[in-house]
Amino acid sequence: MPNLGPDHVKHLATELREAQPAWEEAGPDGRARVLLAWADWFLDNDRKLAEMVQSESGKAWADATMEPAVSVEVINYYAKHAREFLAPRRVRPHGPVGATKRLALRHRPYQLVGIITPWNGPLGAPVFDVVPALMAGAAVICKPSEVAPITWTEAVRGWREAGGPPVLVSATGDGATGAAVVDVVDMVMFTGSTRTGRKIAARAGERLIPCSLELGGKDAMIVLADADIERAASAASWGGMMNSGQLCISVERVYVEEQVYDAFVTAVTDKVATLRQGTDAPGAFVCEVGAMATSAQLDLVERHVDDALSKGAKLTTGGHRAAAGLYFEPTVLVDVDHTMACMREETFGPTLPVMRVRDEDEAIRLANDSTYGLSASVWSGDPLRARKVAEQIQAGAVNINNVLANLFQFTLPQGGWKESGVGYRFGGASGILKYCHPQALVSERVSLRSEPYWFPVSPRKSGAIGRASRLLGAHDWKRRLGLRSGGHG
Ligand code: NAD
Repeated sequence: MPNLGPDHVKHLATELREAQPAWEEAGPDGRARVLLAWADWFLDNDRKLAEMVQSESGKAWADATMEPAVSVEVINYYAKHAREFLAPRRVRPHGPVGATKRLALRHRPYQLVGIITPWNGPLGAPVFDVVPALMAGAAVICKPSEVAPITWTEAVRGWREAGGPPVLVSATGDGATGAAVVDVVDMVMFTGSTRTGRKIAARAGERLIPCSLELGGKDAMIVLADADIERAASAASWGGMMNSGQLCISVERVYVEEQVYDAFVTAVTDKVATLRQGTDAPGAFVCEVGAMATSAQLDLVERHVDDALSKGAKLTTGGHRAAAGLYFEPTVLVDVDHTMACMREETFGPTLPVMRVRDEDEAIRLANDSTYGLSASVWSGDPLRARKVAEQIQAGAVNINNVLANLFQFTLPQGGWKESGVGYRFGGASGILKYCHPQALVSERVSLRSEPYWFPVSPRKSGAIGRASRLLGAHDWKRRLGLRSGGHG
């Protein structure tokens, strides 16, 4: 894959801008037709795409197959709703100044959107954001991660094969290519680490272009004493180990009320210890946990486990890297606390640190004791109690009696609080409108020769306007009738 330099990126941007007007002109229905053809292409090539995902990430086959399937889901959602979401609409005016006005709101896409993505979902991550941007009518330059650029580049080839116009490119390269993308676009959507997100926000600030940032997380799972422990343990095992824990909304830390702590630790350890690890052959579906995508990621996971053990944590299962390959054993850590990196920094690996808490207040306090606020989960047999706890968590999404469930709810916004991000993806209409400028249209219901507040000013006209606005704007009769005056005449 080439490492594109700034000149090449500029050239791509020029070509994309030339192609964009016709794409916008095609309207939501015309664009939906092309995107649905692309969805068919995903379905017709799903095995090849999953093989590519696996080959460049070392995922278990079951994880790899999710990516083409999710891609089709996202396309179907936005293709179905784009017309409704983008339809111009009438807006009711407010107050006396609006009384004679007809108001409308329409949306025009940013001409060129830059989308920069991480490696943990080589296909799914770009598709999540590229689809609504294309449906909005923008042209898109998407830079995949240098760690895993192959599947996405193939999907862009598939876009052309499915009849897509030249409004989408894959700009491969490293961080410098990403920076060059930020320099040529009208809006940037970034998914990746908080560290890189800050750099992108700073550059977007200099250029005065909007940016939307989906960053790291340290998602807490709170298990209350009245929870279904068996289900909670299965969810922790899946939510912590799926994609080898390399998911922004992975379960990264667990807080369990002391009455059920031992039962939970036993159940989760049993489940995690039986997970099968490896990069199984296409079609095999015999492994639950695959590899780390990079050796740097493997080192980071090992550092977090070693740091915890050196400060008094214990392993109930796992805890080591494999002799060969980039595998780290599915791991459960207990006797952990907030002095340890595994409870405070994003691990992004197959580890589940589990901490005993006195009660729900302590669980909430610890869950919120984080610079991150992406998502979380709360487990309880009492729906009202669970809801009350969920509402006190400082995170963009809280799942009740489930984990990762918010990831596929395209009708809800998905984004982080605190250092987990700025802005949101999805969320029904706002998921597509974020790629647009709103345009307010104001027209006159009746056309007068002159408006009362136009020049020239006069005591008579200004006095009448003052009296009228006081009559309509005041909240009590004394003020309405001018019996209490502010002194402006
Ligand atoms: P990263 O920040 O290292 O890289 C992400 C992308 O940014 C890559 O394509 C990279 O080449 C590019 N990049 C690097 N420097 C750049 C610069 N100066 N300007 C422009 N682009 C630049 O992240 P990563 O290691 O690839 O991904 C893992 C991170 O992504 C984790 O923190 C994870 O939580 C996060 N993530 C978040 C979400 C979410 O939706 N919130 C989803 C998936 C992953």
